[in-house]
Amino acid sequence: MIDAARSASLSASRARGRMIEHLRKLKIGDEAVLDAMNRVPRHAFVEEALASRAYEDTALPLGFQQTISQPFVVARMLELLVAGGRPLGKTLEVGTGCGYQAAVLSCMASDVYSMERIAKLLDRARANLRPLKIPNIRLKHGDGSLGLPEIAPFDTIILAAAGNAVPPALLKQLAPGGRMVMPLGSTHQVILLIEHGLNGGFKETRLDAVRFVPLLPGTE
Ligand code: SAH
Repeated sequence: MIDAARSASLSASRARGRMIEHLRKLKIGDEAVLDAMNRVPRHAFVEEALASRAYEDTALPLGFQQTISQPFVVARMLELLVAGGRPLGKTLEVGTGCGYQAAVLSCMASDVYSMERIAKLLDRARANLRPLKIPNIRLKHGDGSLGLPEIAPFDTIILAAAGNAVPPALLKQLAPGGRMVMPLGSTHQVILLIEHGLNGGFKETRLDAVRFVPLLPGTE
C-alpha cells in the first residue's frame, strides 16, 4: 500500500531540489543559503490549494492582500547579508507574513525576531511554524518600522515590505558591523543594502529591481 503522506513529502522534497537547481542557475552560489532554502518546507506555508505551486519561483498570495516572497529574492537578500562569510547573528525580520522567510533565516541566524503588523497573519505564521519546532524564532505583533529597541542592537535587519525611505529607528538598531537589506521605493523598487561600518558610518548600495508589497504604518 502507498503511504500517501510519505509520498507527498517525497514529492515535496523533489520539487524543493528542483527549486534549488533553479536558484543555482540564477547564480545563487552560497551553499549555506541554498542549504537553508532546501531545509524549509515552503509548501507548509502556503494555502493547501496552492501547495502544488509552492516550489515555483514566484510570489504567492497569502490572504490579507499579502504575498509570500519569491524564493529567488529571499535567496538573493540572504546572500547579500552573508557575503564575505559574515554570520547573520541576532536578526530582525520586518514582515513575518506566513513565516516562511523567518524559518529560512532561523537556519542561519543565532536568533530571529520577526515582526508583523497584521495580528491575524501573525497567528497564521505561528500555526505554520509550530509543527517545525524551531527554537530560535520569536514572533512579535507590531509596526516593524519601529523595530524592537528593547532587544536591539541587531547584527542583521531584513525587511520583506517596501518602504519609500529607510526607517530611522531601524538604522539606530543596527549594530556596528551589521547589515540591513530592504526593498526601497514604490512603483520602481530596488534592493537597498546598508552596511554599518565598525567606525560608525553607513554605506548604501542599490541593487536589483524587485516588487514587494508596501511597508505600512501602524497595526491591525
Ligand atoms: N517574509 C514573508 C513575506 C511577507 S509579505 C514570508 O516569507 O511570507 C510582507 C509582510 O510585511 C506582510 O505580511 C505585511 O503585512 C507586512 N508588513 C508591512 N508593513 C509592515 C510593518 N510596518 N511592520 C510589520 N510588518 C509589516
